[in-house]
Amino acid sequence: MGSLSSKNALVTGSTSGIGLAIARAFAAEGANVTINGLGDDAAIEQERSGIEKDFGVKCRYSDANMMDGAAVSAMVHDAEAAFGSLDILVNNAGIQHVAPIEEFPDDKWEAIIRINLMAAFYAIKAAVPGMKARKWGRIINTASAHALVASPFKSAYVSAKHGIAGLTKTVALEVAQDGITVNAIAPGYVWTPLVEKQIPDTMKARGMTEEQVKHDVLLAAQPTKEFVTVEELAALTLFLCSDAARQITGTTLPMDGGWTAQ
Ligand code: NAD
Repeated sequence: MGSLSSKNALVTGSTSGIGLAIARAFAAEGANVTINGLGDDAAIEQERSGIEKDFGVKCRYSDANMMDGAAVSAMVHDAEAAFGSLDILVNNAGIQHVAPIEEFPDDKWEAIIRINLMAAFYAIKAAVPGMKARKWGRIINTASAHALVASPFKSAYVSAKHGIAGLTKTVALEVAQDGITVNAIAPGYVWTPLVEKQIPDTMKARGMTEEQVKHDVLLAAQPTKEFVTVEELAALTLFLCSDAARQITGTTLPMDGGWTAQ
């Protein structure tokens, strides 16, 4: 019996990177999982059926686009109806765009705020009533070191992630006596497709080579000089779901190799 064997979880943005590692860690502990995200249909189906086969749990996929608030609400209600409850919600989907403020494309700004911040609002709003009724819930938002500090050329992302930290604190206070904890995890640089994809734009914005971006920009901020791993973040998320973590709420917990200590 895993530590989450009676629980049902939903992880947004779990077709890749951090979300995928969290969904698999939940399944390994016995939770049924709804996965979500964009990507190739066959690859997603392989991931979904792989989770069922590897861990003997139920796994379903939602194609809800985090740009669309109504689709986010429907995803949560469908997940709850399909498994009978929604006990753990991880708002993890996120995108990035790197550009100086005066050149920042309006549509990219809006998409980042919708996917990285507003989707979490819609999902939490839909999930809280059931969690309150069952007197148990865990909400974990994937923030970033950029929820605590800023870097140039990432105005939309830094704004959205600071917003996530505020949303986390506010909802934590609202549900503090309902057996529900609300926390954010704040990774430093993690080696995932999201980081890999921003290297060309950073090279352009700063006039640097790929190696310079990795060492002088990305790991420059991270005192350990190592990327965080998705498995380490999944382990932190699992801990936040445990009963031992029931008094941890309203926090934005850095896992950033010391970045935000500076
Ligand atoms: P990733 O690109 O590997 O994964 C992002 C996930 O979000 C994918 O599953 C993708 O399909 C999904 N997604 C994107 N747009 C979507 C949309 N419109 N609708 C539904 N799903 C959508 O990235 P990652 O690095 O694993 O990032 C996950 C989270 O971690 C993000 O919130 C990101 O901001 C945060 N984060 C990442 C790092 C890092 O260094 N990688 C650091 C700090 C925080």
